[in-house]
Amino acid sequence: MLGTNIQKPVSGVSRRDFLKFCSMMTGVLALPRSYVRVIENALETKKRLPVIWLEMQDCAGCTEALLRATQPTVGQLVLDVLSVDYHETIMAASGNLAEEAKQATIDAGGYLLVVEGSIPVGDGEFYCTIGGKSALQLLKEAATNAAAVVAVGNCATFGGWPYATPNPTNASFVTEIIKDKPVMNLPGCPYNPVNLTAAVVHFLTFGELPAMDDLHRPLFAYGALIHDNCPRRGHFDAGEFVVAWGDEGHKKGWCLYKMGCKGPVTYHNCPAVEYNDGTSWPIKAGHGCIACSEPGFWDLGIYNQADLQRYAPPETYAPVQLPTQKIDPATAGLIGAAAGVAIGAAGVAAYKALSKADDEDSSSSE
Ligand code: SF4
Repeated sequence: MLGTNIQKPVSGVSRRDFLKFCSMMTGVLALPRSYVRVIENALETKKRLPVIWLEMQDCAGCTEALLRATQPTVGQLVLDVLSVDYHETIMAASGNLAEEAKQATIDAGGYLLVVEGSIPVGDGEFYCTIGGKSALQLLKEAATNAAAVVAVGNCATFGGWPYATPNPTNASFVTEIIKDKPVMNLPGCPYNPVNLTAAVVHFLTFGELPAMDDLHRPLFAYGALIHDNCPRRGHFDAGEFVVAWGDEGHKKGWCLYKMGCKGPVTYHNCPAVEYNDGTSWPIKAGHGCIACSEPGFWDLGIYNQADLQRYAPPETYAPVQLPTQKIDPATAGLIGAAAGVAIGAAGVAAYKALSKADDEDSSSSE
């Protein structure tokens, strides 16, 4: 019977917290509820997964994101489910001892290689050199016997800020270099550690990486546009936009599209999982999405408006009827979620409202 002969699955984690964690992971992975037991069983019985974590041209923000996971049960589980054999920022060993630990893990094989930061190549190869070897050499060596490679953060997945014009170090990224191993991208600036945990749980449970899009991003985390799940979406559909920081619309939580929000062109599960253990995320805090989970986001221009025409939906979608009176944020969120499913006419109407407002703006300024 549940609760009588059970053991703690991992040290320092209560049975209750462990089951909560398994339920949460089932939710993040968008699996049916029946998979809670499957995940539970896998985490209790599988060996810890060895991890080599490499940092290349990065700001260590993704490592910081991992370390700042303050939800103790999740942090504990990550440490107990993973065996982090090499991580330059957090390991106690240094010098030859650290290199030997890494080599022993490579020789044993079957580990997860996590890569943070971009990798300079060609003429720029030696702009990033650690222990006398270039980042490119280190990446290729470490990938040799890896079961899978996970690139975390926009730098490792798409080049990030080192890759931005004019890309002085000739920065590249993991999927451009590693072609003979399964590679999963977890972009973001930083990536969200909840998604790494969920991907590891999936790997331990099913023995493979989760289903991915054509940019190697797991669909459970990058399968939907931020815009389609945004709590401000009702305001977008109602044509209610912030036009200056601190204006009435900003105070009322209106849509940030005109302030450069890239939610309509960005795939990420921020609205669902948020950051800092579900505390907040940029749009909730009043700033537009900067598309940090998309390729080349540094060159998009934070305050440039996203090109809605590229993402205009087919006009055959069912129309969404939206109230014209003011809506509170909670209601706006519900409407936004509904509108996200049937974005068609609502999106077109919003686009028209934007065009009209833009016309008015320009005529009033003439
Ligand atoms: S444009 Fe940005 S703030 Fe407005 S609804 Fe879309 S994602 Fe939300």
